[in-house]
Amino acid sequence: MTAQLNPRGDVAVLVPAAGAGVRLGPGAPKALRPLAGEPLLVHAVRRIAAAPSVHTIVVAAPAADVESVRLMLAPVAPVTVVPGGAERQASVAAALAAVPAGPEIVLVHDAARALTPPELVESVAAAVRGGHDGVIPVLPVVDTVKEVDAGERVLGTVDRAALRAVQTPQGFRRSVLTTAHEAAGDPLTDDAGLVEKLGVPVVCVPGSELALKITRPFDLALAEHLLATGA
Ligand code: C5P
Repeated sequence: MTAQLNPRGDVAVLVPAAGAGVRLGPGAPKALRPLAGEPLLVHAVRRIAAAPSVHTIVVAAPAADVESVRLMLAPVAPVTVVPGGAERQASVAAALAAVPAGPEIVLVHDAARALTPPELVESVAAAVRGGHDGVIPVLPVVDTVKEVDAGERVLGTVDRAALRAVQTPQGFRRSVLTTAHEAAGDPLTDDAGLVEKLGVPVVCVPGSELALKITRPFDLALAEHLLATGA
């Protein structure tokens, strides 16, 4: 059954899903790789659509797959699908341009974080609603982190107490994200990085282990296990 989005919701979620996914090995674009028999993107969109504040979902798909992604997602939720770009940032900008008038909170969420619970979508949106213009979900860093030179020689140990591993969805006041993308000069940073460059404060909220980024074959195996145990 197709999920209903909330016409009175104040949140648009952009889902960049146009990456090749080289690190997963050869095969389909990453967002279209199967996880327990369904594409990662289907898992991701189903969970976003289950978040009660969501008014609009816009997916940026590989240009060659726009029509098939539209058909694939039609039974899952009402979704707008646009062609993505060569860089993640271009895909986000294309999705942002397709958001209709209405939602004043915009979340950017990687399709690769396919098991992200709806509660995380809501907690990021709630922090934006509460007055923060930029919000990122984070986890503490558990490994010791070293800085190294080009020859893999250790330069120093970084204080991990001051570090956070950043997940998505990242949430923004719509006008702030639009301005950040218009000013975008660095294709390598995340959306929060673009907002930071405007001098806008970005705050952290607790992330979720389930929002892991499915990047390598090990992550796919872990995600299969999590799904089998009820995620
Ligand atoms: O490559 P990376 O793992 O950083 O990609 C993160 C997300 O951005 C993925 O969901 C991927 O599909 C998306 N992406 C995109 N357009 C690109 C590159 C990546 O939508 N050109």
